Amino acid sequence: MLENNPLLLPFDSPFEVAPFSSIRLEHYKPAIEKLIESSLLEIDKIAASVDAPTYDNTIVALDRSGKQLSQVAEVFFNLNSAETSEEMQALASDLSPILTDFSNAIMQNAILFDRVKTVYTATDQSLLDAEDSMLLEKTYKGFIRSGANLSDEDKKKYAEISKELAQLQLKFGENVLAETNAYEMIIEDEKDLAGLPEGTKEGAAATAEAKGHKGKWMFTLQAPSFVPFMEYADNRALREKMFRAYMSKAFKGDKFDNQENVKKIVALRQEKVALLGYESYSDYVLEERMAESADKVEAFLNDLLTKATPKAKAEVEAVKAFAKGQGFEGELERWDWSYYSQKLKNEKFQINDEMLRPYFKLDNAVKGIFDVANKLYGLTFKHNPEIPVYHPDVKAYEVLNEKGEHVSVFFEDYFPREGKRGGAWMTSYKSQYKDGIDHRPIVSIVCNFTPATGDKPSLLTYNEVETLFHEFGHALHGMLADSKYSSLSGTSVYWDFVELPSQILENWLQEKECLDLFAKHYETGEPIPEDYIQKIKDSSNFNEGYQTMRQLSFGLMDMAWHSLKADEIQVDDVRAFEQKAMAQTELFGAIEGACMSTQFSHIFQGGYAAGYYSYKWAEVLDADAFSVFKEKGIFNKEVATSFKENILSRGGSEHPMELYKRFRGQEPTVDALLERSGLK
Ligand SMILES: [Zn+2]
Repeated sequence: MLENNPLLLPFDSPFEVAPFSSIRLEHYKPAIEKLIESSLLEIDKIAASVDAPTYDNTIVALDRSGKQLSQVAEVFFNLNSAETSEEMQALASDLSPILTDFSNAIMQNAILFDRVKTVYTATDQSLLDAEDSMLLEKTYKGFIRSGANLSDEDKKKYAEISKELAQLQLKFGENVLAETNAYEMIIEDEKDLAGLPEGTKEGAAATAEAKGHKGKWMFTLQAPSFVPFMEYADNRALREKMFRAYMSKAFKGDKFDNQENVKKIVALRQEKVALLGYESYSDYVLEERMAESADKVEAFLNDLLTKATPKAKAEVEAVKAFAKGQGFEGELERWDWSYYSQKLKNEKFQINDEMLRPYFKLDNAVKGIFDVANKLYGLTFKHNPEIPVYHPDVKAYEVLNEKGEHVSVFFEDYFPREGKRGGAWMTSYKSQYKDGIDHRPIVSIVCNFTPATGDKPSLLTYNEVETLFHEFGHALHGMLADSKYSSLSGTSVYWDFVELPSQILENWLQEKECLDLFAKHYETGEPIPEDYIQKIKDSSNFNEGYQTMRQLSFGLMDMAWHSLKADEIQVDDVRAFEQKAMAQTELFGAIEGACMSTQFSHIFQGGYAAGYYSYKWAEVLDADAFSVFKEKGIFNKEVATSFKENILSRGGSEHPMELYKRFRGQEPTVDALLERSGLK
């Protein structure tokens, strides 16, 4: 499988896009194994060089190594998300450890690390430009943070803890999934469905039938079932039942209980970074974040808390009063919140998805984002059918700048299908970098939008258009990249900075000047009515105080767990611990048997540990940055050029605060976010 393996031959399609149609599943493993072999030879050559270690022969050489391997791995893992099969998934779990071993082999290469360390110690960083200095810092720290500087004994310990942590995190996720999947509520009497939208009822009937309960309705703890039930079901007792089930996931003292896992994960994370000399896990994480320290994050969250509390309390009172007006008696509980909020929102704003859809035909919305990119950054998008694609639904564009020069390849892939995972994301098939020539990137966005049906084209909800703008914002970050090194290029930035380019673009969607470009009725061509735009704006703040409190409660709880130091790490009671951390954000009384920590996969399984605050952090940035556009004009060329030159094109080449200040002239303040969310 090595001969004529298209993954091992130079990609000779336009712009060196992978020749998707000639790649077969059996090509990947031999190609990746072969490329790992040659990449390790490259690494050995760097490590074993007889020349004295220099910035170029060590640090730059490392950044340049393994390019073909990463390109092939990107093709594989991108397709495993967007166009996969059972065979491909099996191959993915086969390939993942091979690739982990490969990166471990680099990080644990002591001779290589010696060279990196020598360059790091001997280089006068003031003589390097900002980007070179960043690459040196990032490379050296990457080794250190992976334990390269530890004694052999500690290295062993570090590896053992890492392995145990990986297993515990996996187990944590499996328990949450098992608990989510295990719950089903079967409804036999149609009366109990009162209040629910037709689509939800149909879904529940289909679920019931699939599970062998034909003629009944089944509700689960999956979002598409749980959320509408809480919002619309008139039957209060059933709402309570569902809510309690949802909040007690992995907290029942049975084999799926995660309390011990939470304690162990938190303790092992602390122990692991203590080996590297950090007091707490959050110290370790935040060192490579824009926020810089746990103190700063906590101050940030508490400041927002003070500001959001009065509004959140007023919102709760308003919903209570509304419920009372609807004949509700007694104490409003958490399982009543969505139900009465939804009704109040309808009454207040009288706007809904079905009214807006006709103005958001997908083709028009895509034309809209291209127009926005043109007005801001002078980009044009030329459909090029010669560029290979991996599925007939996918469309490839050549992206050109004002001078007509090639900027990027851009793929769009919009509709759900079997083999595509849920949600929406931006990804890349090739990062931008320069080694004498400017290698331009290949960028893609993948979404799951409402498809066309019968004679109706694809008509999007407002949320879907927002998602399109969001992902396209990430895509611009990738497309406009102008770095020397691929490891600092495009979206390779600190975790709490990466959502700025995406979230900021969502702001354009509330502006008439932008909506007028594309939001036209798909049949009559009539522009979206002005009062609709106003209603979109007005309703976007509805219960924002409450939402903010929720996000803050998660952020504070995350920080509490991950800021524990060695002498505080023994936590006895998981629920008591989280209640203390979240106490100031509580707007309702505590619910017996409910626990958030045991089901909080974001921080105990995924990568958001000491990072949940990033969502709010990025909102501060995007609101603050957009306020400049708002002041000077949303298509102001000067502001756009500054945003491009200081932020979008710079990737991770400098500390994000430096980049941000260069655009903004000062550090961000929370004012614009407070204003936008009505918290002022
Ligand atoms: Zn995003």
